[in-house]
Amino acid sequence: MTHETVREVDPELAAALGGERDRQEDTLAMIASENHVSEAVLEAQGSALTNIYAEGYPGKRYYAGCEYADEVEQLAIDRAKELWGADHVNVQPHSGSQANMGVYLAVLDPGDKILSLDLTHGGHLSHGHPANFAGQVYNVEQYEVDAETGYIDYEGLAETAAEFDPDIIVSGYSAYPREVEWETIQDVADDVDAYHLADIAHITGLVAAGVHSSPVGIADFVTGSTHKTIRAGRGGIIMSDEAFADDIDSAVFPGMQGGPLMHNIAGKAVGFKEALDPDFETYAEQTVANADALAERLQEHGLELVSGGTDNHLVLIDLRPSHPDTPGKDVEEALEDAGIVLNANTVPGETRSAFNPSGIRAGTPGLTTRGFDEDDCRDVADLIYEVVDAPDDEDVIDEVAARVAELTDAYPVYE
Ligand SMILES: *Cc1c(COP(=O)(O)O)cnc(C)c1O
Repeated sequence: MTHETVREVDPELAAALGGERDRQEDTLAMIASENHVSEAVLEAQGSALTNIYAEGYPGKRYYAGCEYADEVEQLAIDRAKELWGADHVNVQPHSGSQANMGVYLAVLDPGDKILSLDLTHGGHLSHGHPANFAGQVYNVEQYEVDAETGYIDYEGLAETAAEFDPDIIVSGYSAYPREVEWETIQDVADDVDAYHLADIAHITGLVAAGVHSSPVGIADFVTGSTHKTIRAGRGGIIMSDEAFADDIDSAVFPGMQGGPLMHNIAGKAVGFKEALDPDFETYAEQTVANADALAERLQEHGLELVSGGTDNHLVLIDLRPSHPDTPGKDVEEALEDAGIVLNANTVPGETRSAFNPSGIRAGTPGLTTRGFDEDDCRDVADLIYEVVDAPDDEDVIDEVAARVAELTDAYPVYE
């Protein structure tokens, strides 16, 4: 076997890898679902575990040679149990969408009914959008946020549940800036005798650190991604009571996946260990404080935020009241030119389209990992506002880009 580096084997690819690393250093990653993992997580994900087939679970594998894979997966499981306090944890889902698929497969039959939040109100494709398998295999009805307040319309949810009689209610969202009332949704699920899946993909880290309330022990199933606020590298996770352990495990493998991505499970184990350190609580608290500072300053500039603020790591700007003629995509592109990377997003009551919506979603997990504090986030809010207000002004973009460069230089991601 050769011992050449990527640069030696494949200069073309190496250039793209280097370009991506530089891009992450030189821009502000404000996509609310993104973060920067540690060098240790990167190392685990790049390990020789990518070579192994470990179909099955620790101590019950289909193939020989799994002694170390067993150790790695058990570490990931044990640390996840400690972080979130779950009875049973499956760390094999390849991503958050696969985690949801695993739950559906475990407890639903094709044609069964899912009640979930509308995508344009903050839901996720895997909660039953027609473009996703879940919308094609299952019968889906949606609840919404209150158009006035931007908060989940819990009463509307209860009414829709009573009419629709779902088999499962999905809570947990992709673009919802407020704390979720898990118990309220559990009460609705109890009333209609439905399962409750709480998808904490975005807020896994906030829940682990105790800065957002936990649905573990309330909802029947809790799913998450491992690459967002928890910083453990790409992947998914399913938590449940012990009573569902066998159903979940056999739904994930052999139900819907083959061999687990053991190198990613190693990344999860390392990231979970880091998250058990008291420093992680400080990180999660700072992430929320930073989002709050960002929200306040954006509002001082006259921008309208869905729900009027945030309880978590993200803000959702509705451009329509302040900048009715400025589509979200124009702002997204102008901000990217200035080095601020975030996404145009639909807002409740969307009047444009999913491809060019009226909102902008911005999160603080990545900035906080780099070391940003509230003052820095207020500065970032000023920069965002300048671009929102003049997305076509090259001088403004250049000036903002220069200030972004000062910030990224002051806070390197990887030395
Ligand atoms: C991000 C996210 C997921 C998982 O997405 P993947 O890209 O498949 O990891 C699932 N649910 C919600 C609510 C999300 O925001």
